[in-house]
Amino acid sequence: MHRVVQGIASDLLGRIDRLGGLNAPHLILGKILAQAYDTAAYKIAADDLLGTHKVDILFHALGAGVVMHDEKRIDALMVETKAGRKAITGDIFIDCSGDGDLAAWAGARYEVGDNEGSMLYPSMMFRLNGVDPDKAGEAWRTIPALMEKAEAAGRHRFPRKAAIVRPQRSPIEWRVNFTQLARADGRAINGLEPDDLTRGELEGRRQAVDAFNFLRTVAGFENSYIVDLPPQLGIRETRRVIGGYMLSGEDVLGCASFDDSIGVNGWPMESHVAGDVIFKFPPIPQSRGFNELPYRMLIPEGLDNLMVAGRCASMTHDGQSAARVSGACFAMGEAAGTAAALALDGNALPRELAGDKLQDRLKQQGAFLGRDQAVPEGV
Ligand SMILES: Cc1cc2nc3c(=O)[nH]c(=O)nc-3n(C[C@H](O)[C@H](O)[C@H](O)COP(=O)(O)OP(=O)(O)OC[C@H]3O[C@@H](n4cnc5c(N)ncnc54)[C@H](O)[C@@H]3O)c2cc1C
Repeated sequence: MHRVVQGIASDLLGRIDRLGGLNAPHLILGKILAQAYDTAAYKIAADDLLGTHKVDILFHALGAGVVMHDEKRIDALMVETKAGRKAITGDIFIDCSGDGDLAAWAGARYEVGDNEGSMLYPSMMFRLNGVDPDKAGEAWRTIPALMEKAEAAGRHRFPRKAAIVRPQRSPIEWRVNFTQLARADGRAINGLEPDDLTRGELEGRRQAVDAFNFLRTVAGFENSYIVDLPPQLGIRETRRVIGGYMLSGEDVLGCASFDDSIGVNGWPMESHVAGDVIFKFPPIPQSRGFNELPYRMLIPEGLDNLMVAGRCASMTHDGQSAARVSGACFAMGEAAGTAAALALDGNALPRELAGDKLQDRLKQQGAFLGRDQAVPEGV
């Protein structure tokens, strides 16, 4: 077993583990191990991690606009806070908003969705408590067939196939990924539209109750209850900012290598289409099963002091269906922060940074970039 996303992700997972919040990794579709964690432990560990690195944190501030120095350079991000509007100035900005908000305001080019008017569909996940673990057993194996039976008998209707129901670290608590949120015209809820987000959130909670009513008919779940709904709807895809390279579905399926690799992605394509979720893996075990992520994905065209990392980085619709997941986002985030620090030290623009300098620094920090490095052992 190999965990290929390392670096800051290993630090965070270590902190979650010390809080007793890590599950044993579990196999997905017989091809990849997934690492689940307790959400409260994650929050505490993330606070600790940022505290250790003396990061200035400002919560409760919504990015709302930009002040440009000229068309290529950002002077300030405007934020709305309880104490009024503020400008946050900086020499280099990294947009990790998921939606590419700052990049869009600054005039970066971007794409949205599949060019046919739809994006990956969002979901409202939730967690159940009070499950009887002995009776529930490996219910994730039997639930898909029970869903089909319930639908055929007209007892329930489900918005999508490929539901995920899995135990958390404490087996009386399970997470449920059952829902799919569409607009009236059948297309995905648009995470850039406040009206859509509002309707999606209301409908998401309604679908969660429907899913719960079905799950209570499954052995072991009779006395369970919804212990937590997320603070907001889970959005998978909105803007994808166009950078120096767009990671594609072929790159993912072909386990691509790049000279300017800053980390790797091991997740397959996972397309949330109407009514279903379609996975496409690279050939496993014939291939190494992961692709490298080029630094150019983080560098938007036409802007000098902006980088993007996370699900809004430079990827095609298919490439993003894979590398939007948290492992690749950790790799991109660590690389963007490290590159910004190196660029500031050397008085260079992020796009001018020498690739080997960044790669050396990332390796020193424990990151795995693929390339000539030995694949890390263990999970
Ligand atoms: C339902 C669902 C299930 C998933 N399951 C998994 C899974 O099992 N495993 C996995 O690895 N991945 C999973 N993913 C994917 C993964 O969680 C996300 O793609 C990933 O977290 C994206 O990371 P990010 O840092 O780019 O964005 P986010 O994690 O979305 O972080 C963006 C942050 O920016 C903030 N923000 C946005 N706009 C503004 C603004 N204007 N001003 C201030 N703050 C702002 C947001 O509030 C948020 O905190 C799932 C996604 C969804 C929706």
